[in-house]
Amino acid sequence: MDLSLLTIDAARSAVQERKTSATALAEAYYAKIENDDPKIGAYLTLSMERAMAKAIEMDALAAKGEKLPPLGGVPVGIKDVMVTKGVRSTAGSKILGNYIPPYDCTAVARLEAAGAVVLGKLNCDEFAMGSSNENSAWKPVHNPRDLTRVPGGSSGGSAACVAADMAVVALGSDTGGSIRQPASFCGVVGLLPTYGRVSRYGLIAFASSLDHIGPLAKSVKDAAIVLRTIAGRDPMDSTSAEVPVPDYVAELDKPVRGMKIGIAREYLSEGLDGEVRNAVEAGIQKLASLGCEIVQISLPHTKYAVPAYYIVATAEASSNLARFDGVRYGHRSKDVRTLSDMYRHSRDEGFGAEVKRRIMLGTYALSAGYYDAYYLKAQKVRTLLARDFEEAFKKVDAIVTPTSPTAAFKLGEKLDDPLAMYLADIYTVTADLAGIPGISIPCGATKEKLPIGMQILGKHFGEAAILRVAHAYEQAA
Ligand code: GLN
Repeated sequence: MDLSLLTIDAARSAVQERKTSATALAEAYYAKIENDDPKIGAYLTLSMERAMAKAIEMDALAAKGEKLPPLGGVPVGIKDVMVTKGVRSTAGSKILGNYIPPYDCTAVARLEAAGAVVLGKLNCDEFAMGSSNENSAWKPVHNPRDLTRVPGGSSGGSAACVAADMAVVALGSDTGGSIRQPASFCGVVGLLPTYGRVSRYGLIAFASSLDHIGPLAKSVKDAAIVLRTIAGRDPMDSTSAEVPVPDYVAELDKPVRGMKIGIAREYLSEGLDGEVRNAVEAGIQKLASLGCEIVQISLPHTKYAVPAYYIVATAEASSNLARFDGVRYGHRSKDVRTLSDMYRHSRDEGFGAEVKRRIMLGTYALSAGYYDAYYLKAQKVRTLLARDFEEAFKKVDAIVTPTSPTAAFKLGEKLDDPLAMYLADIYTVTADLAGIPGISIPCGATKEKLPIGMQILGKHFGEAAILRVAHAYEQAA
């Protein structure tokens, strides 16, 4: 079976019609992982027992001729920042190197309840902090399209495993772009849902007001199926919204003719690579040829987004990461004589350099005397950014931008320059700060055959509209 052709529906129907079995399918994926993953590094932990138990359950349903649930028998991968009961969950960090959670993340539980077979846990930047996956405490991920390049981050393992056919779909998390940017670097689809659309219960926190869970997939339809499965109110997350979940899949084929697509000059300016610009402009032309009306808009506060993001995200991270103290779970230093030694050494040994940098930045921004100057200021900028989008969405139905200013860069290229790495998040952090949804879809390649991504942003809870535009583009491409 050619795994590269398997979408959710193709895999599910093959199991339903007994052309293959869910167990054989899971075994085929594990064989592929065994063969290909040593050079890619997408998986941190395989959950074979759990996968096989689910596969056997789905095969039994199919054998009885019962209708499989929407992801029946479909192999999926899960970013290691989502906890999985009985399966090691490290968030890419040594401090959780031995952590076996006693419960499941809601999004994972919902996928499994819909029949998905969880193959394992995917590599990522430590606590989802990064844009290249080089901050993983365990190993970097290599971009399957060019092994000398990064897959993007922090959901680099999720993007790489889908691009390399080591799962049909994967879950990632996005705090400042970590679903969309790796999707664009690896040439797959990545969807950031509206804040509150998907429960964060069981997502190991980075920055709680910015963290989102969403799918990485080979097609827009697969992303829509996963979103439909994981979205909706969860009593275990008080920020999950009580907003009804539409049938995203049923709305995919509604016409896009007459939809107004906004183009913001602030997203097509300085610092944008020429090949990326050309590909995105061609993408916009394609949407125009499908009958969309292209409207020039302005998002004037865009230039303040990266500094505001790195204040808010690090401030929240410094507070969230205070819980890792060697007492309740995770790594505990052996080299200790006093309680305060235990805290300090456990954290020093457990956290990597980027995490420490952010804890220091965030603690500084929240400290007395600096709170008003940094944190409060950043929150005000956040409001201004949200208002930019509110104004824009009075005129347009969706906004199209590049996902990242460049295609995938080389491993090591930006490692010594965290600021350069931060600045490259310019097109993605705005949506997280405003809480709006966005999707990255492949829209071409560079001369070196590196994928380029185009981002489509929507209104709060407007996932159906951006999925529809993305689907129409994909079908026409
Ligand atoms: N690259 C951004 C950062 O390093 C975004 C990370 C994310 O979305 N998790 O914070």
